[in-house]
Amino acid sequence: MKYLASCSFGKDSLATILLALMHGEPLDEAVYCEVMFDDDISGEVPEHRDFIYERAIPFLEANGVKVVVLRSEMTFIKSFYRILKRGNSAGKINSWPLCGRCCIQRDCKLPPINAYKQSLGSGVIQYIGISYDEQERLMRLEPGKAVSLLAKYKKTERDAAEICKRAGLYSPAYAFTSRNGCFFCPNAKRGELRHLYDHHPDLWARLLECQSAPNKATELFNRTERIDEIDQRFRYEAEQLSLFDGLPLEKAA
Ligand code: SF4
Repeated sequence: MKYLASCSFGKDSLATILLALMHGEPLDEAVYCEVMFDDDISGEVPEHRDFIYERAIPFLEANGVKVVVLRSEMTFIKSFYRILKRGNSAGKINSWPLCGRCCIQRDCKLPPINAYKQSLGSGVIQYIGISYDEQERLMRLEPGKAVSLLAKYKKTERDAAEICKRAGLYSPAYAFTSRNGCFFCPNAKRGELRHLYDHHPDLWARLLECQSAPNKATELFNRTERIDEIDQRFRYEAEQLSLFDGLPLEKAA
C-alpha cells in the first residue's frame, strides 16, 4: 500500500502532512500539481509560488517527505487560444475559463494527477486536506481510497491554520485571500484581483492582453465583468485615492 498526500500547499493540505509527521502516520510522498499560466510562468499567485518553492518544499524534504511536482503540457495560454471544434462557439477561441465549469481544472490540473495515480496502480491511499468541520465533503470521500487526517485527529480549518503557523508553514497568500487559486481564476474575489492589479502589474497586463484577442467564445472574465472593465474600475479607484493624497484627513473624509 502506498500513502500519498495531495498537496496544494494551502493550510489544510499542509496541516495534513504535518499531522502525518507528528503522529507517525504512513506517508510515502506529497503530490503537488502546478497549473502553469504559460510555459514559463506559474499560475499560482507569486507570493504562494515563492512560499511553495522557497519554504514549504525545502521544509518537507528536510523532514523526509518526498515531494512530487506534476505539470501538464496544457497551460492557461494554450487553453485560452485553443480553437473550439464543437458547440455553439465552434471556430472561436476557447478564451476565459467559466465559473463553475473551469476548463483549466479539467485540462491542466486533473490529467497529470490522474495519470500519476494510475501509474502507481491500485494500492494507493490518498490523504485529502478536508477538515473535521467540513462534514459534507468528508461524506463524499471514497472509503479505502481517500482519508482525512484532519478528521481523524478532529482538526477544524482554524486548527489547520494554527498547525501551519506553528510550523512556520502558513502561506503569505492568506494575507489577501482565504483560498488557493490560480491568479487568473474566474472565482477570484475582488481583493485577490486588486492584489494582482496592485502588486503584479506584469501579470495583470498579460490578462489585459488576452482580452484584446479577437473571436473569443466569451468576453467575460468572471460571471459579470470583462477584465478590462475590472481594470477601469481599479484605475478609477486608484485615481480617486490619489486625489485625497496629501489632503488633511478631515477634508479627505
Ligand atoms: S483555481 Fe480557478 S482557474 Fe484554477 S483550476 Fe481552480 S477553478 Fe480553475
